[in-house]
Amino acid sequence: MAERMNLVEVFSSVQGEGIHVGESTLFVRFAGCDLRCRWCDSPGTWQPSAHCEIETARGSGVRRRQPNPVSLAALLEALELLELAAHRWIALTGGEPLLQPEAVRALSLAVRGRGPRIHLETHGLAVDALEQVVAGVDLVSMDWKLASDVRRARDPSPGPVEDFHEAHTAFLKIARAAPEVQIKVVVTPASQAAELDTMAACIAAVDASLPVILQPVTPFGAVRERPRAEQLLALEAALSCVLEDVRVIPQTHPLYGAP
Ligand code: SF4
Repeated sequence: MAERMNLVEVFSSVQGEGIHVGESTLFVRFAGCDLRCRWCDSPGTWQPSAHCEIETARGSGVRRRQPNPVSLAALLEALELLELAAHRWIALTGGEPLLQPEAVRALSLAVRGRGPRIHLETHGLAVDALEQVVAGVDLVSMDWKLASDVRRARDPSPGPVEDFHEAHTAFLKIARAAPEVQIKVVVTPASQAAELDTMAACIAAVDASLPVILQPVTPFGAVRERPRAEQLLALEAALSCVLEDVRVIPQTHPLYGAP
């Protein structure tokens, strides 16, 4: 099904997270996710969607509905109307785009050389799928999920869940084949310093120079409070003892109402 994909939305904006914050970006949001993050601000992406909402002109906010699955040809036509070549990045995001690796690969190949660099935004756990697509992307932006705030969709609820460190480490080793990698970890008041210490040790064992972003949660869903500055600063200091490039960067797009 490489030529057909289940999407939630396609729109133009600027990047609101990570080290490329503020750079013009076309977002292609894939449907489906196999995790359940407590703060998830897009639970509408968890299941396949009947329709995809596609912005009709760059920055207009005006959208039309297109039935899923969307063909690659129809998507490329929509991207051209949104001025594909004028953007610095195209972000393949979700949901979890690596649940549709053939579509990610086909889209990456189709837009390569047409202007924007290709940014894969992923939960950082689908190792086999990443191997299929990594040669075609310019930036792998992977999350590092903490078991204090994240569970798999299949996990029983409530109750403790298996941590994600081993799977993330395996994923990171493959991701390093991309020209650029960043690792984001969402920090909530419930995040445990010990979890982040383990994360840092895992990353340092692969490559201590990779940028690691501590992203204070934007309250949403079951998470109602931000972490305190003291918590963030202590984490930044502790992680910087073993990692070379640790940054605290909150989401910026909610500040001015961008999608
Ligand atoms: S991985 Fe992303 S889409 Fe899936 S539950 Fe977490 S925040 Fe939501």
